[in-house]
Amino acid sequence: MRVLLVEDDPAVAVPLVEGLKRNGLEVVHVGFAAGVADASHDVDVILLDLGLPDGDGLQVLREIRKHSDVPVIVVTARGDEADRVVGLELGADDYVVKPFSVRELSARIRAVSRRRRIETPVGSGRVNVDRTRRRVTVDGQLIDLTAKEFDLLAVLAEEPGRVVGRQELFSRVWDPVWHGTGKTLDVHVSAVRRKLGDPDLIETVRGVGYRLSEA
Ligand code: CA
Repeated sequence: MRVLLVEDDPAVAVPLVEGLKRNGLEVVHVGFAAGVADASHDVDVILLDLGLPDGDGLQVLREIRKHSDVPVIVVTARGDEADRVVGLELGADDYVVKPFSVRELSARIRAVSRRRRIETPVGSGRVNVDRTRRRVTVDGQLIDLTAKEFDLLAVLAEEPGRVVGRQELFSRVWDPVWHGTGKTLDVHVSAVRRKLGDPDLIETVRGVGYRLSEA
């Protein structure tokens, strides 16, 4: 996961970059508001200090939100409650107050990124999966699925066209350590196919797994 750290104070930034890397995160660091626009592509989370030498962090956030819904965590000094509130109103996903621990911050980074992934609807042209509301539509028609059927389809719908291996489906829908037979999976796939109304929407890749049609 790539994190963009926007922080001008080296005393904060240097140990933070080190710490986040130790926690398994890739970090891109910029010290000025002016560098954010270019650096904010291809990152999974932005960590935004509000007190920047060449501009207001809240203004930076406003600019980011014009073209991107990347998760943003605002970093504020203790006591700046107004900044926190405005930050959240402008579309920040979370905030941390200085001083904070790298461990806490890493946990929050992973939390906002997870939440954002769940909120993003997935699917193909015909099949749409709304994971927040747990609703599925095919050609605009609402489909009623059981919990496991929904989870199964949601995994396939993350990337239509990608073959999802049987083992991945087992571990993400049922249990990381799967000891059963493959029958449960096949039975659920059949049920989902039937309910979707068009068997071709889920293709079997023999001996490998399943994929959602891109159509
Ligand atoms: Ca600062």
